[in-house]
Amino acid sequence: MSWRKVVLRLVGLALLLLFLIWSYPYLKNLVRVVKLYRQPPPASLPVPVEGVAPSDLTDTWGAARSEGRRHEGIDIFAPRRTPIHSTTQGVVVSKGWNRLGGRTVTVFGPAGWRHYYAHLDEWETPAVGDWVEVGTVLGYVGDSGNAQGTPTHLHYGIYAGGEARNPYPLLAGPPHHERATPAQRPPAARAPSSPPRRRRGARGHSGGASR
Ligand SMILES: [Zn+2]
Repeated sequence: MSWRKVVLRLVGLALLLLFLIWSYPYLKNLVRVVKLYRQPPPASLPVPVEGVAPSDLTDTWGAARSEGRRHEGIDIFAPRRTPIHSTTQGVVVSKGWNRLGGRTVTVFGPAGWRHYYAHLDEWETPAVGDWVEVGTVLGYVGDSGNAQGTPTHLHYGIYAGGEARNPYPLLAGPPHHERATPAQRPPAARAPSSPPRRRRGARGHSGGASR
């Protein structure tokens, strides 16, 4: 066997190993992951930070952030070490540190949406590959990562098919039991105060990199 073949086989083995490490959380819960994928995306979600009401939330989606980034989530302010609950069932697919998010946890949930919890002060026990329920404590509110020194908060982000989605309408929406019978719901209860419609073209979206 030539050295080229040996190298190719080693590279192949290394790639297979990397794939297995990456897919471990999914493989460990394969049946449940398939079921999660087939579930419809959530129409509403509970607020993940203990003691915070939907009416306490502020929509900061798209607000300017450092390094020219846009805010891809919601910041939910609470005292340090307030428990953070999973908003969905799902599988913990990552748990670790990154420069921006600090201590983070990502849960793979219904419809394959990823739920990203960041700036934790400390993690709770669910490990990568573990199954979590709605309400499972994932960790505690802090200011880790690029939030260091700012008021303690949870940064909560939702990614659907690689695209970030605004969690705010889901968190502030009607509770789960109300959406089972949409036909019976009085129309007045739907929109307490409808926000002003965004006019097309009124905002400088075509302006490219303008902030
Ligand atoms: Zn944030």
